[in-house]
Amino acid sequence: YRDLRIGLLGCGSVGAQVARLILAHGDELAARIGARLTLAGIAVRDVDAPRDVELPRELFTTDAERLVQGSDIVIELMGGIEPARTLITQALQGGADVVTANKALIAAHGPELSEAAEQVGAQLSYEAAVAAAIPILRPLRESLAGDHITRVLGIVNGSTNYILDRMDRFGDSAEDASRVASELGFLEADPTLDVEGYDAAQKATILASIAFHTEVPVDAVHREGITQITAEQIDAAKSAGYVIKLLAIAERLQAADGTHGVSARVYPALIRRDHPLAAVHEGKNAVFVEAEAAGELMFYGAGAGGAETASAVLGDLVSAARRHVVGGPGIPGSLHAELPILPVGEVTTAY
Ligand code: NDP
Repeated sequence: YRDLRIGLLGCGSVGAQVARLILAHGDELAARIGARLTLAGIAVRDVDAPRDVELPRELFTTDAERLVQGSDIVIELMGGIEPARTLITQALQGGADVVTANKALIAAHGPELSEAAEQVGAQLSYEAAVAAAIPILRPLRESLAGDHITRVLGIVNGSTNYILDRMDRFGDSAEDASRVASELGFLEADPTLDVEGYDAAQKATILASIAFHTEVPVDAVHREGITQITAEQIDAAKSAGYVIKLLAIAERLQAADGTHGVSARVYPALIRRDHPLAAVHEGKNAVFVEAEAAGELMFYGAGAGGAETASAVLGDLVSAARRHVVGGPGIPGSLHAELPILPVGEVTTAY
């Protein structure tokens, strides 16, 4: 196999899991891609900081710029706007493909970065930036590319879903639910990003842009958080047959004057209790898509977590890596004998 050099920027909750998976599944990934992924280095602030995963000391560096220059594919998992934005731009300008989970950066500078990628024919992908483990951007961009999407409704912030779910199911007050969420690590030290809907608005921007093939700036997203929601409102919704969920909504609409456009908004919305989104409990995420021909689709799963987010990052990595291999076994859709067929033994009939 030829070697592809992977430069990893960041080794926190997600980065450490990405490094672990690349090292643990090297052979399997090589066979699937037709090229070997070589972890060229891991850029961090402090090379001596303790890590969630044991990794070879010599991989660590504080020179992110140099790592980027020597990489075929760069994975950015530092978070924040700078230096991520500059490093990603440098990587793309140098012709490297880039994978990131950085929703804040993509929501603020996605179009500029996509253009930098297009100019050199590089690939910029960020499946993990919305709803972490849930494959949603690729289905919207590729599987549904021939359909006409009319609406996307997403529960895309696990912390607020956890709080609202506790209030609805256990009758918690807003304060009690937030305290439990905080104790369980669902809320950041500064919970504003979550409870005021900023995080969901970043995801609404990304979902709307991809679903409707347009640029939706984050300040064009109407945003309301959950801080005004009271136990009484939750009860009233319940008696009327609804549940309150913080939704990120992207919708194709026709304005009163006949103009067709896109509306993107985040607010605590009423959902009928028999709607599939009503059954999304605790910190889980889900995205409900309505399309002209496909009808209704729902994508459900973990919207956070190191390994969960790393799963989506690895998917983007494999897809980027396959672009470097001509006629390899890794062409999407090609089948090769990876595993033998086992005889049917004792099967479970209830799921
Ligand atoms: P962490 O804060 O856990 O890790 C950040 C890592 O980046 C650390 O290893 C840190 O180094 C490194 N880093 C930060 N700034 C710099 C810098 N200036 N130069 C070099 N290294 C730097 O973040 P997460 O792993 O939780 O998140 C990474 C990205 O993934 C973020 O964009 C986040 O929004 C996104 N994401 C995270 C999810 C999650 O569940 N955690 C879910 C979905 C997306 P050091 O360790 O030395 O301090």
